[in-house]
Order: sequence, then structure tokens, then C-alpha cells
Amino acid sequence: MLHLISGVGAKGPACFLIEAAGKRLMLDLGEGPPPGLFPKVDDIGPIDALVLSHGHRDHVGGLALLPKLGNPPVYATEIVLRALPDGIAGRPLPVRGRGDVLGIAVETGRNGHAPGGIWLHFAIGGGLLYTGDFSAESMLYAYDAPPPASTALMDCSYGNYDAPLAECWNKLAPFVERGPLLLPVPANGRGPEIALALLRHGRTDIFVDDAMQKALLELCDGAGVSLRGNVGADVRRLAATVKPIDGARGIMLAGSADGTSGATARLFGEWQNKSEPAIVFTGYVNPTTPADLLIKSGRAQFMRWNVHPRLSDTVALVRTTQAKTVIPAFCDRSQLAALAAAFAPARVTMDGDLAI
Ligand SMILES: [Zn+2]
Repeated sequence: MLHLISGVGAKGPACFLIEAAGKRLMLDLGEGPPPGLFPKVDDIGPIDALVLSHGHRDHVGGLALLPKLGNPPVYATEIVLRALPDGIAGRPLPVRGRGDVLGIAVETGRNGHAPGGIWLHFAIGGGLLYTGDFSAESMLYAYDAPPPASTALMDCSYGNYDAPLAECWNKLAPFVERGPLLLPVPANGRGPEIALALLRHGRTDIFVDDAMQKALLELCDGAGVSLRGNVGADVRRLAATVKPIDGARGIMLAGSADGTSGATARLFGEWQNKSEPAIVFTGYVNPTTPADLLIKSGRAQFMRWNVHPRLSDTVALVRTTQAKTVIPAFCDRSQLAALAAAFAPARVTMDGDLAI
């Protein structure tokens, strides 16, 4: 059985439960996007393991709930385990390869979305694929194609949106040309990818906060396994090029992406009532966050930078996995009809508890 606890039918924290071979495995345990929004786990009871797809807060931010679930072991890649709080009983999964979770065989591959991020393919029924978040078009993070699976629980964050990453750059480029520009970004995701695009377009006036600097150094070292094969030299050049933010100049990348914490919270305080630098948000904007308020007041702009699959990517995944049942995750229920039409003849559902 696959239980959709949270993350299907509305943007919300990822949390799913598989019951198979006498075991109860939870997939992801997130918080948000709105801070303080957690999956409801009070009635679930003890589970045998938690398996994490990647380290973003909406997938791992609920770890404080583990005592309610019997403090199970936590399976994830070493890169993701390293960044978790102390006291977690971590069990490593390969970034790309085969492993097992309590005797259930699992195949993993890189998700093209975040350092150490993976999709998971469990040998349950005719195969159960959980993509976590994924992107097939990242120029920085590698994406491995998953094998066939009869059931696919897949990232459909963008619903039927279908514009390519090249279009994202075309929209951002005029702001880059005009400068100075602040781009609030997650350091372990979109941030390094946008910085790489800037470098490849000839920009060397790139300024970053500590979180971005640390993320770039990790990509040069332990997290390099998550990179595309042809970008290692550029990432090292990028890490050597960036300088600390020291005022409103150049192209600046800093966390957090929504201005609730980190360097951006401080910089918004300094710059929100000034006309410069331009501020452009490129990811999901939570209602009532500083990001949302700055956009609504006209001080900042929103321009998406793809880090989730477009419709053509999710359609391609349904075709290559030959999935008979597809559960679109991380988008609103209003997308269901469009996705069902695009994924036909697969059965597409967002409802309840599924036998797999
Ligand atoms: Zn993510």
C-alpha cells in the first residue's frame, strides 16, 4: 500500500508511507513551504525506516517528528546525511546504484535537482518510483533516467508549465545587464546553477554570501558526484571567482530564497526602501514571506528558474517508465485534469491510499 500523507493535491511538505513485505517505510518528512507546516503523523504509529530523497526543508524539515514515529533509522545519501542534525541514526544509500532498505531492494539515481539528491525505485509490485524533486534540464546537476515502474509518484511541481530553462535565462538577462542585482536563492539548489550560467555568459562580478561560498566549495569536493560530467572545471573556476557581498554591486546571490533568514534577511532590511539593487526571486514564493511582500509592493520581481520538471519532462518520464499509475505530487489538485490528459493512457490519481 502507498499512503499519500502530505504533498499531493496541494503544495505542502513531502511525506508518504509504503507498507510492503511486512515493513513500513516513510518517504521524506518535510516542513513547509510555509514555515511551520508539518505532515500530520500523530495517527501513523511506529515506522521501520525513513527514506529521504534530498536535503531541502520541504523534504527533511520534519525530522523533529521522528520520536512520534518510533525513532526509526534514516536512509539517505552520505551527502544528505552529513547535513542532518546530530543524533540521527543514518544509513547510507548510493547516489547512483543498488541498495536495500530493511530487505526491500532499491535502485537510486541522481535527481538533477540538489547535491546528494536521488530518485528511488523500490522492487515492490511492478516497481514503485518515487522521484522526490527532479529536473531533467539542469546544466549543473546530473540526472539519471529511472528504470520502468508500474507506479510512479512523481514531482509535478510546475503542473502543465512547459517553458525551457533557456527561456528563463532570456528573461533574467536584461536584469543581469542592467545591474546591480540581488538574487535570493537556495545555496544547495538553484544558487550555484544560476552562478554557473552567469559565469558561462562572461560575468565575473559575482558576489555571494557564506552559504553560497560553502555550497560551491562542497560541489568542488565531496558533492562533486552529483554534478554533470562536463562541469567540474567550471565549478572550480566559479568557486575561485566569487567574492563576498560588500554592498550593492555586481550580481549577488544569497540565501535564504524567501528572505526569512540568512544574508537576504539582513540585505532586505538595508535595501527594501531603496531603488537599487534590483531584486529578482526565481523560486516558489510563500505567501506572507518577505519575498511575497516585496513582490506585491513592486520593489522586487519574480522570474522562474526551472528546478523542477516541465510538462514535457514529466510526460517523457511517464513514457520511459511505462507507468500504469501516476500520482502527481507537489502541485495543486486543479492541475489533475491537464496532467491526466497528458499522461494518458496511464491512470492518474491524487487520491488516498493505493494498492501497488
Ligand atoms: Zn527540492
